[in-house]
Amino acid sequence: MRKKIALHWKIIIGMVLGVLYGLLASRLAWVEFTSDWIKPLGTIFVNLLKLIAVPLVFASLIKGVASLSDISKLSRIGGKTIAIYLISTVIAVSIGLILVNVVKPGDGFDKGSVSKTEQIEEGTNKKIAAAEEVKEEGPLQFLIDIVPTNIFESASNNRNMLQVIFFAILFGIAMVMLPNEKISHVKGFFNGINDIILQIVDMIMISAPYGVFALLAGLVVDFGASAELFIALAKYSATVIVGLLFMIFAVYPFILSVFTKVKYLDFFKGISPAQMLAFSTSSSAATLPVTMERCEEHIGVSEEVSSFVLPLGATINMDGTSLYQAVAAVFIAQAFSIDLDMGQQLTIVLTATLASIGAAAVPGAGMVMLVIVLGAIGVPTEGLALIFGVDRLLDMLRTVVNVTGDATVATVVASSEGQIREVAEEELMS
Ligand code: ASP
Repeated sequence: MRKKIALHWKIIIGMVLGVLYGLLASRLAWVEFTSDWIKPLGTIFVNLLKLIAVPLVFASLIKGVASLSDISKLSRIGGKTIAIYLISTVIAVSIGLILVNVVKPGDGFDKGSVSKTEQIEEGTNKKIAAAEEVKEEGPLQFLIDIVPTNIFESASNNRNMLQVIFFAILFGIAMVMLPNEKISHVKGFFNGINDIILQIVDMIMISAPYGVFALLAGLVVDFGASAELFIALAKYSATVIVGLLFMIFAVYPFILSVFTKVKYLDFFKGISPAQMLAFSTSSSAATLPVTMERCEEHIGVSEEVSSFVLPLGATINMDGTSLYQAVAAVFIAQAFSIDLDMGQQLTIVLTATLASIGAAAVPGAGMVMLVIVLGAIGVPTEGLALIFGVDRLLDMLRTVVNVTGDATVATVVASSEGQIREVAEEELMS
């Protein structure tokens, strides 16, 4: 019998071929052909993932909350989740700060090596303008933003995931409070929707190797020119990358080994397709349906936990983003020869934590929120131009960490609630 190739291998092959094709296409001047005929396939793939994100979060959260026997369990799981999310983010920022202060990638950095092309200038200005809008809001704006006035409007915009979560929890709680005979049809309806959407995730994942091929081919063709920039910024990029790798290979395995019985290798096998999608799409929100499916079916996290912890995590827990913001802020300060004292470093811990919570789970959002961190410590925002050219690659990597962090916390919460089942070897690999 022919042996089935595991999904993550197929995706890896798709990614490698995509990069190789992109390099070749840049050389052979197939850029237009790639933009016209290859890139759209990647866009369709990401659209499909985004398409099911809102219905999936909605149906699975309602199903999860409605199945709770008492609401106090929800507040316990919620409190625990938010506390662990905050702690992991603070750990990530601290690692970033320690690394950037030890390596000092910005000391003596030759700013002239990053020529300010029009594209960089324009991109930087856009990010600064987007951040200005965020800054003008009052201190309670984030609470106002969670409560929607029109759920259909919230559902139509991927950035409003917290509003969808809020409405789904409200809906689920009301279901728990009503007698069963009144809501049994609604319950059955959402259970059915949930199963259908998970089936759609499986169907979409069949095309994942082709999707990541197209995404990476398009990216390499677009960003081929930034290789020189990458070398100029190698020390900075390396500092961010070392920090991110440390999270994946040291911090999360440590957390899993202390708080759960799940072996890291099994966790890794289970979650790797979601990590690869995070890398290819640079968006935790687009990856969310796959993160949920992998956690439930391949790591064994109960649906009750994953349907609550993961959508929340995709929106508010961004360990990779916060680590990157700490490194980037200090790097820019060093490049501008600004000395940061202890108070300013602590401000970075606070603002990078908040900024990563506020960042939307879409490509490039972390850089917008970096403007706020820079503002808080008095470093010129024009400094963004220095790191703009390498941001996409770092975005891809930090999104992998964001998604892995969410999955780690889901596994920890599920273990502490006794809501994790053992998965068979075949389930891990499929
Ligand atoms: N792209 C990241 C995410 O979606 C956010 C960011 O750091 O830009 O998780």
